[in-house]
Amino acid sequence: MARDLEQLYREALVWDAHAGVFPSPQIDLNLLDEWQQQGASYVSINVGFDVMDWQETLATLAAYRRWVLDHPDRFVLVSNTGDIDRARAAGKFALSFDIEGMNALNQDINMVSLYHALGVRQMLFAYNLNNTAAGGCHDRDTGLSAFGREVVQEMNRVGMIVDCSHAAYRTTMDIMQTSCKPVVFSHSNPAAIWDHQRNINDEQIRACAATGGVIGLNGMGIFLGDNDIGVDTMARHVRYISDLVGSEHSGIGFDYSPDIDVDIGVILRSRPDYWPAGQQYDTRDIKHGGPAQLPALIDTLADMGFADGDIRGFLGENFHRVAVAAWNG
Ligand SMILES: [Zn+2]
Repeated sequence: MARDLEQLYREALVWDAHAGVFPSPQIDLNLLDEWQQQGASYVSINVGFDVMDWQETLATLAAYRRWVLDHPDRFVLVSNTGDIDRARAAGKFALSFDIEGMNALNQDINMVSLYHALGVRQMLFAYNLNNTAAGGCHDRDTGLSAFGREVVQEMNRVGMIVDCSHAAYRTTMDIMQTSCKPVVFSHSNPAAIWDHQRNINDEQIRACAATGGVIGLNGMGIFLGDNDIGVDTMARHVRYISDLVGSEHSGIGFDYSPDIDVDIGVILRSRPDYWPAGQQYDTRDIKHGGPAQLPALIDTLADMGFADGDIRGFLGENFHRVAVAAWNG
């Protein structure tokens, strides 16, 4: 990597909008060190998804929250973007939590502000299948329900990032129309580059950009291509978003997990409803791109003509802009 890019990367705010660590109270969060070692400043880590019941999500949130608060020398559980600035200045790693799907709300709007108070700063509406709030990307597309609309407004009010990843097309368009704050796809790739139900079409990308939002590059090989995590492939996805709506709408949501003692393949095969056949989930040894590839990726983007400001935006400033609007207001 050229020396000026090395310096840019060292000094940049690096925001990973979604970690794909399997949520469980048993997970040893020392694994978060890997993000900081690779130069990341902040990650949003999921404490639950619709496959779990809401009590399990709350138990995972309780365990993660206590662990982070017990390690104040290394980690900061952030409330707003000022906390991220302070964490960086102190050499600490910043994080907050997200939840993938609204089963975690137990159909109770009061749960939104409770989760917010406990450190959740981003919520997704569905996890692949429909729930009472929203339609999932591997299900019949029913759109956003009246309850889902209420949740969007409550998330806007309390200060959470509204996240459309894993939801179905119509639902995402309904969400983006309802939200008065920028909306993100924290970890979704353009379907024009790799056609997968988890990826999103041009209309969704344009609508997201129109809210002032950001689309995070997902590092999973089956969403990038044929289990392909090469940086050239990643760069094609980033460039597509940038060409379509502008580089200020592109970011990182690697969906990455360090190696943990959980066999993801066994989990995926155990629930063919959430991870249906024909969507590559049965791929052996699904590859995961992550923050370790960022230096090579930004090198490639620079070769493609991305200016330093575009690269800084992609690395973190774009998602930071969304968080300023969503969290701090
Ligand atoms: Zn996900």
